[in-house]
Amino acid sequence: MSKIARRRFIQLSAAAAAGVLVQPARKARAEDLPHLAEDDPMASAMKYTHDASTVDPSSRANPAAEQTCANCALVQGNDGDEWRPCQIFPGKAVNAAGWCSVWAPKA
Ligand code: SF4
Repeated sequence: MSKIARRRFIQLSAAAAAGVLVQPARKARAEDLPHLAEDDPMASAMKYTHDASTVDPSSRANPAAEQTCANCALVQGNDGDEWRPCQIFPGKAVNAAGWCSVWAPKA
């Protein structure tokens, strides 16, 4: 390998390595996630439902009104999206109008 070819090879290798290092990790998009099923064993254990209005507020450990996934501290993704990632159910999307027993108020 000539000096010029070797220098070019080193430059391209460095550029490729830098590209790999600066490329942001691909984040899972909410629309790519499967929806959490209410009969999923983990969802059932957490009393998850797609519709928070079906839950008697007096049955909640924290009976504060207006509890939905959309206003839970553990929801992720974008406000206004119908289905959003949740820290409790990795790899699944929960309904913004849903609820589970882990609901926590946003700080
Ligand atoms: Fe919804 Fe919060 Fe329960 Fe996740 S932890 S399912 S966002 S209520």
